[in-house]
Amino acid sequence: MTNYKSQITNKTMVTGNTTMQKKIPQRMCLGCREMKAKSELVRVVKSPEGEVSLDITGKKPGRGAYVCRNPDCFKRVVKSNALARAFKAQISNEIIEELQNQLEK
Ligand SMILES: [Zn+2]
Repeated sequence: MTNYKSQITNKTMVTGNTTMQKKIPQRMCLGCREMKAKSELVRVVKSPEGEVSLDITGKKPGRGAYVCRNPDCFKRVVKSNALARAFKAQISNEIIEELQNQLEK
């Protein structure tokens, strides 16, 4: 009886381990509004100085917003003015072009 019990316990432990998932941080793309893993997104950051730039490393200080690594998504972001809303600031055309160029690389 004791053997049977310990077998069950072992089994449960194994199942518990296999179903345990690593938590992948997810962020919402401003373009398609889908939640995606951070690695699938590009961070756009507004620095404390108010400068908007792409943050490839994800380590720049400031307020961040995320867009898919997909030019179509970025176009949607531009069209809907989502960046300006996310940063509560006007984003100039030069910055948009710059971001677009970097995304298409
Ligand atoms: Zn997207």
